[in-house]
Amino acid sequence: MTLIDSEFGASLKRVERWRPWVAGLLMLAGIAGTLFLYRGLQSAEVDSLARYVDNLADYIEVDMLADLGEQMNAHRRMAARLAHNGIEDAGGWQLNAELFLDHYGYYRTLAVLDPALEVLWIRHRGEGHVAPGEIFPVGEEYRPALARARATGEITATRPRFLPDGRPGISLIIPIGTNERHAGYVATTMDIPDAIDAMIPALFRESLDLHAVARGRDVYPYPPQAAPSQWDAGFTVDLDDDETGFLFEFAVSDDIREQLSSAMPEVVLVSGILLSLLLAAVVYLGLNAGDQARVMARANRRLEQEIGEREAAERELSFLVNHDSLTGLPNRSGISEFLADMIENHGDRQAQLAVLFLDLDQFKDINDSLGHQLGDQLLCEVPRRLAGILRDRDFVGRHGGDEFLIAVERADREQVEQLAGNILHALDAGFAVEDHRLFISGSIGIAYYPESGRSVNELIQNADTALFKAKNAGRNQFAVFTREMFAQAQHRLNLSRDIRHALEDGNFRVVYQPIVDVRDLSMSGVEALLRWDHRDGYPVPPQEFIRVAEETGIIGRLGEFALDRALSDLAQWKSLSEDLPGLAVNVSGAQIHEAGFAEQLSILLHQHRIEPEQLHLEITEEVLIENLASNRRMLHKLDEIGIRIVVDDFGVGYSSLSYLKNFPISVVKIDRGFVRDIVSDPEDQAITRTICSLAADLGMQTVAEGVETDEQLALLASYRCSFAQGFLFARPVEADEIAQMIGGQQPWRATSRD
Ligand code: C2E
Ligand code: MG
Ligand code: MG
Repeated sequence: MTLIDSEFGASLKRVERWRPWVAGLLMLAGIAGTLFLYRGLQSAEVDSLARYVDNLADYIEVDMLADLGEQMNAHRRMAARLAHNGIEDAGGWQLNAELFLDHYGYYRTLAVLDPALEVLWIRHRGEGHVAPGEIFPVGEEYRPALARARATGEITATRPRFLPDGRPGISLIIPIGTNERHAGYVATTMDIPDAIDAMIPALFRESLDLHAVARGRDVYPYPPQAAPSQWDAGFTVDLDDDETGFLFEFAVSDDIREQLSSAMPEVVLVSGILLSLLLAAVVYLGLNAGDQARVMARANRRLEQEIGEREAAERELSFLVNHDSLTGLPNRSGISEFLADMIENHGDRQAQLAVLFLDLDQFKDINDSLGHQLGDQLLCEVPRRLAGILRDRDFVGRHGGDEFLIAVERADREQVEQLAGNILHALDAGFAVEDHRLFISGSIGIAYYPESGRSVNELIQNADTALFKAKNAGRNQFAVFTREMFAQAQHRLNLSRDIRHALEDGNFRVVYQPIVDVRDLSMSGVEALLRWDHRDGYPVPPQEFIRVAEETGIIGRLGEFALDRALSDLAQWKSLSEDLPGLAVNVSGAQIHEAGFAEQLSILLHQHRIEPEQLHLEITEEVLIENLASNRRMLHKLDEIGIRIVVDDFGVGYSSLSYLKNFPISVVKIDRGFVRDIVSDPEDQAITRTICSLAADLGMQTVAEGVETDEQLALLASYRCSFAQGFLFARPVEADEIAQMIGGQQPWRATSRD
């Protein structure tokens, strides 16, 4: 069983092909999204760092400016006090100076200068004596600024320089009194690294890479250190508004950077990439799983469909097995099943369960004359006709050919038999098939459960036996199975078995009865008649064993034996005389319809070197009119070979002679029944006379059977009957006796002469 068909497989392949792409695209989208987020987080982090640094810078700047402002004010206050008290007031001023230096620990030196910039008083913190020029390197370049300051009272800052110990420093100079009240200067020197260290809280300093440049010189840190690759922020502090100040630049330390920067972007990046991979994998697997689920679902659907189809096929098969394709009725096996059910359900009910075996009479004729198609249509019409009479619960099946099986339950046997009569009557009405109006009768055999059989097979077989009885009794009637029938059937069965054995054991023989020419009583022919001496010692009448042989199908072999024996006897006689009698051999209906019958005959004739004209085949009128169409074909075939055809037992079937002119018939054999009482019965006389004269008119010869008396012979002669056969001349005798008769010793001739 293929669960995935090719089309489905192809679409699956297509799905399989784009599946990795979907997963790949999703992964790329995920990674792109992650990168975007990462960059966003990163820049947010940079922004936040920048904000932090800016804030820090602002804070330090503001703090420093405030601090410096305060120092400037302290300078101004000192200058103001000296201006007020006079620079001679060293005592008061010195205290001020001490307080100042104590308070601002990063000022190294504080001095009072006269207007000519000569040191009047100096207070220095640090090692040894310091030359005022070293402390206040006030050269010519400051004179314009100082001259301006004398008018404004503003502070002048010197360029940064290196103090004697090598540290960067700066001096601030403020005039004492302005203009004409100018009395000198207050000058201070500040240790820049210390000042910066003091002004910027340690907390910040530790976390910053701080760097200061003043007028092109590195002033912080001391000693100088390698600068970082880039600064995070910076600001300028101008001490004296000369537009050149200290440029402070700083970079946050790695610690701060680390503190400020979270691992978030990296976490997001890594987990985003991982998530993307995971998502792609999940989607890929999901698609796979989805596909698999779809495949499974599809496979399941297909499986269900297949199961459904199989069940339907099984149902169909079982229908086909159990039903007839032509009529749609249950066939033999369907009948068996249904009957078995019916029997099982019947139980011990009071009602009569009956099986009616219906066979159409002479259906073969319709088939042969009008064709199988019409025959088939008629077969389909019959169950429709039955439907009008039967009840819903009644059963109709086609047993085969033109045989139908009807099973019914009725209150009593009378009703069943009434139904059988109704069925026959319904068929009588005839059928309109295409342009034809077909008339057909039927015969019915009835078997009752359980008297006529307990099993399905028994019931059918016994209904068939009863049918056989109905047919034999003249058709278009029904017969109910009886125990005697069973005995007869049993007898037939035994007989058929015995025929088989007798054929093998050579217990059959052929005798010949002379047929004489009515005009001169010469032996014109002989009729071959089969004889069977049963091994139990009694002769079995031909009528009996021929019928059984026909019914059981062994007639073919039996007829073949008779023909072969008769032809070989004729061949023997041939050596005795040129003037050979014609040989009449009886053939039954079943025999002539066997395939290759004509061909087989030709072979036999050839083998025995017998001219076909020498052989006369006797076919009873009954057989002839039963299957007109097929008989006509066969008889013409035989006629073509040259074999003569004799209608045996003519008159029994009441068929008209003119009807027979359509057949290639040479001889008509008048049934013994008409001859028997011919002397006394005017009707038989009339019939016989008519047959003889009509046959003569049609160019046929006539044979009278069973001629036992001279009177009969005389009458037949007067009717111009061609030939006569009967005990008057000879009983059927052995072949060698015929041989003697051929030689001239024909006893009847002697008798008649007497
Ligand atoms: P049939 O073909 O009509 O044969 C004539 C029957 O009449 C023979 O009976 C014969 O013995 C009998 N018969 C002849 N003359 C007289 C007579 O004067 N008085 C009386 N009462 N009977 C006479 P048989 O031999 O018993 O044959 C009976 C039937 O069996 C035959 O009737 C024929 O239909 C059939 N039969 C015999 N042999 C064969 C055979 O080889 N093949 C076939 N298919 N049928 C055969
Ligand atoms: Mg005969
Ligand atoms: Mg006869």
